[in-house]
Amino acid sequence: MPRLLPALTLMTALLGGLSAASAQEQVLNLYTARHYQTDEALYTNFTKLTGIRINRIEGKEDELFERIRREGAASPADVFLTVDAARLQVADDAGLFAPVHSRTLNSRIPEQFRDPEGHWFGFSYRARVIAYDRAKVKPEEIASWADLTKPRFKGKICVRSGGHVYNRTLVASLLYHWGEDRTADWARGIVANLARDPKGGDTDQMRAVAAGECEVAITNHYYYTRLMLSNKPEDQEVVRKVGIVYPEQNTFGTHVNISGGGMLKHAPNKAAAVRFLEYLASDEAQAYFANGNNEWPVVPGVKLNNPALESMSNFKVDRLSASILAKNTPKAQRFIDRAGWK
Ligand code: FE
Repeated sequence: MPRLLPALTLMTALLGGLSAASAQEQVLNLYTARHYQTDEALYTNFTKLTGIRINRIEGKEDELFERIRREGAASPADVFLTVDAARLQVADDAGLFAPVHSRTLNSRIPEQFRDPEGHWFGFSYRARVIAYDRAKVKPEEIASWADLTKPRFKGKICVRSGGHVYNRTLVASLLYHWGEDRTADWARGIVANLARDPKGGDTDQMRAVAAGECEVAITNHYYYTRLMLSNKPEDQEVVRKVGIVYPEQNTFGTHVNISGGGMLKHAPNKAAAVRFLEYLASDEAQAYFANGNNEWPVVPGVKLNNPALESMSNFKVDRLSASILAKNTPKAQRFIDRAGWK
C-alpha cells in the first residue's frame, strides 16, 4: 500500500495542474518587486475575496521591468508592482502600462499619489527622514535638509549611495522646491560633510550613528519603525541612542515616495488586474501596508493597528505630486553625479 502513495500524490498534482489551467479559473499574473513577507497575507486575502488565484513572479525592480519589456506582447504579466515613483514612471515612459479608469481608484487615492493618466497608482508612501545621535545633536539643528551641509556637520553624516532611488527622489524633490543652484550646492555640501564613503542600506546608517561613527544619517522612516518593533537588544539600543526628525516641517513638508503599480498594456487578464488594483486601495489592503510593512496608506482615514508607526505619524507631508517627482528624477541623478555623491 505505501508504494501507491507516490503515485497518488503524482495524480493529485496532475489533476491540480489541469484544473489550474482550465479556462474557468480566474488568475492574475503579478510581477512584483515588493518582497515583504507581510504582503503574503495581502494576496491570500484577495484570492479569498474574489476567487482569483495569483501567480506571483518576484524579482528585483529593474529585472522585472526588463523582463516585461523583453516579453513584449507575449508577456503574461497583468500587474507590475514596485517601489519608487521614478521606477513607475520609467516603466510608463517605456509604454508598459495601460490606462485604468476606475472611479474607485480615482476617488480613493489622492491625486498626489497617482499618475494623472491612470497608468500607475501609489498604494503606500514612505518618508525620508534624518536620524540623529540623541546625545550629540539637538533636533532643532536639523529642521531642514539644508542644515546637514553646515560646517557643524563636517565629517558627521552617514548616508547610502547617492544613486540609490531613495536619495535620487529626495534630490528630485529639492530640485523642485529649491531650484538648480541651491540643490547643486546642497549635494556637494552633503559629500563634503560625509563621515565615510557611502555604503550599506538605510538601517546600516542608523547603526553607524548608534556606534558613534557619525552624528546624523538619512533614512526611510520604516527602517526606524522596524527597529522600534524589533525585540533584538541591539536594535533596541539603536532606538535608545538614535532619534529621528522630519525635515522641512516649517517649509514645504517632508519628502515622501510611494510604492505602487499599474496594469500592463498586454495584460491577458485585464478585469482581474483592475480588481486587484482596486483591492489594493481597499481599507483592508491599505491597513496591511501599514500594519505589515510600516508604510502609510495613501487612502486617508484608514484605521491602523500599529502603535509604533502611529507614534510617528504626525508630520507635514510634502505635497509635491509623485508624477512631477518622478519626472525630475533623471535630472536629479545628474546633480548627484556632478557632486561626486557615489
Ligand atoms: Fe526600502
